[in-house]
Amino acid sequence: MVEPVLALRNLRKSFGALAATNDVSLTLLPGEIHALIGPNGAGKSTLIKQITGEIRPDSGAVAFMGRAIDGLDVAARARLGLARSFQVSAVIPDFTVRQNVMLALMGASGRVFRFFRPALSDHSLTGPAQDHIAAAGLADRAGVKAAELSHGERRKLEIAMALALSPKVFLLDEPMAGMGLEGAAQLTELLSNLRRKAPILLVEHDMDAVFALADRISVLVYGRIIATGTVAEIRAHPEVQRSYLGD
Ligand code: ADP
Ligand code: MG
Repeated sequence: MVEPVLALRNLRKSFGALAATNDVSLTLLPGEIHALIGPNGAGKSTLIKQITGEIRPDSGAVAFMGRAIDGLDVAARARLGLARSFQVSAVIPDFTVRQNVMLALMGASGRVFRFFRPALSDHSLTGPAQDHIAAAGLADRAGVKAAELSHGERRKLEIAMALALSPKVFLLDEPMAGMGLEGAAQLTELLSNLRRKAPILLVEHDMDAVFALADRISVLVYGRIIATGTVAEIRAHPEVQRSYLGD
């Protein structure tokens, strides 16, 4: 049996009387894109935050590469390579794409952030930064200030910055939100390349993207996973169609 990169067991988190996640178990396997879908308020973001450590579950367990991480805080989990992608590091609007990615690289190497201005002239970072920028599809925008990027380009910058942190998994909470058709198509292609670097847990409402990308899909409704399966299995699942896909 393949060892999961991430294994969630019976995660339960209530806000007052509301069980936002109710006994959720799922695994993320090496190399896979596992999509998590479900209506608004289903508990998807609450689940992601229990993986990053932003929210402590009432009960249940999270194992990362075979190791129990329940006692670790957000920073310790991030150091292991388990951070919410796209939110780990804030983009600095006044800095160029390249400078932002260099800052992310410095953060990854543990260098002190307060002194980042001199370190931005550290040419040992330029090459790696350029690699991540190219991998995110922004090679021709490296010298542009972040403030001048389009919405879609900004997402790409966030991907480049996420790559700089050498994550062991990508935890993506609705990366397609607010993107137009063309942007969503580009991001879909980027994510299909990203999976070669690390497996992806993908929370997403854009079903075209989910069906194009996912190896497995789990459906969360009112805090419970009602189905996990391949794209074909989920499309054919009667309860999923009734309660979520609406066709
Ligand atoms: P999703 O991401 O699937 O839309 P969320 O995980 O954000 O759902 O929320 C699940 C449920 O938990 C919702 O009913 C939401 O209102 C509630 N909820 C989320 N965070 C909190 C919180 N910090 N305090 C109280 N209720 C919350
Ligand atoms: Mg959410």
